[in-house]
Amino acid sequence: MNLDINRIRRDFPILEQQVYGKTLVYLDNGATTQKPNVVIDKICEMYRKYNANIHRGVHYLSEKSTQFYEESRQTVAHFINASSNKEIIFTKGTTDSVNLIAHAFGDRFLKKGDQVLVTALEHHANLVPWQMICQKTGAELKIIPINEKGEILQDKYRELLSDRCKILSLTHVSNSLGTIVPIKEMIAQAHAYHIPVLVDAAQSVQHIPVDVQELDCEFLAFSGHKIYGPTGIGVLYGKTEWLEKLPPYQGGGDMIDDVEYQKSTYAEIPLKFEAGTSNYVDAIALAEAIKYISNIGLKNIAAHEQEILRYATEQMLKIEGLKIIGTAAQKASAISFTLKNVHNLDAGMILDKMGIAVRTGHHCAQPLMKKLGITGTIRVSFAIYNTKDEVDVLISALQKLKQMFN
Ligand code: PMP
Repeated sequence: MNLDINRIRRDFPILEQQVYGKTLVYLDNGATTQKPNVVIDKICEMYRKYNANIHRGVHYLSEKSTQFYEESRQTVAHFINASSNKEIIFTKGTTDSVNLIAHAFGDRFLKKGDQVLVTALEHHANLVPWQMICQKTGAELKIIPINEKGEILQDKYRELLSDRCKILSLTHVSNSLGTIVPIKEMIAQAHAYHIPVLVDAAQSVQHIPVDVQELDCEFLAFSGHKIYGPTGIGVLYGKTEWLEKLPPYQGGGDMIDDVEYQKSTYAEIPLKFEAGTSNYVDAIALAEAIKYISNIGLKNIAAHEQEILRYATEQMLKIEGLKIIGTAAQKASAISFTLKNVHNLDAGMILDKMGIAVRTGHHCAQPLMKKLGITGTIRVSFAIYNTKDEVDVLISALQKLKQMFN
């Protein structure tokens, strides 16, 4: 199916504006995506017509917001094909979801001598929480290495699997290099050792169809703001049996069953993991974002973005002195690169003045950058609304940049 990208672009009001007198070319979608009108309108509608705290009130507004919130949980469950709504926990985002699992799992299941496995590609969000819990429990953090293209070394991964390894936490798509990790095969191999797996899907759910039952992962995390939804809302998926055996991460209202001054019993899942007033407005708006992209179709989105990725890669390779960092065979829509004689920060600032928003620096993956022997890259990352015309604007800006510095 050929998508009408110009029609899609009209759904995103921010894209119509000019910056520094230039038409905005937004290529920082890996950091956050722009929001369609349906999401913005839903947030306004919630505050204008339905706002009331969920799960507590018996009045009309509270019943309405509770109903919309629980329907949103259903929308998310359907989107990733969870087998039950109970398996969907609303969090603040991927970082919050990973911290929840690292701490709840670590407190219950990790001890000295155990190992936690992550890959060399991880965002700090899927690394630092595990470092913290390893320091607390005495478990050891093991890193699965990558090759120079940014692909996981599968033989090294298999060597690291053992009965000492208690959990594997890995990214589906690398935010800094764009590598698509073959998680389905890796999850199956971990399961041969009864190792549960957490997938960081922050950079995948908006680009690739994700089916948690097909992947068979125990946990999966993503952020609303990277999938055209609001900031401050995210998702943690967990298999029922696992969520039931993990202790709560935070205590407070909504997560309890019965409370006495000295002790409490806890609510059933998912509420056991949703202490305090949830960000129900943004959860409801996130469901709108999911419906929006589901209507377009994830397969159609993937096809369009792959085409943009292919075209941009081809054009960029023609620029002398431009080096693409991350050349995995399977990539999602991000290209990291360096330009000879140009510091990434200077490049970012000059491109900005030309109306082009890109990301520069270490992309919250400092150990990876150090391993690659660089301080950072320039990263362009594409979304459903990006076009080949925008790639052309980028390419001519990069040519100008090169001339300026040579
Ligand atoms: N993991 C990956 C792969 C990411 O790209 C990001 C965000 N850049 C995160 C985790 C953290 O997401 P958030 O800041 O929304 O919690």
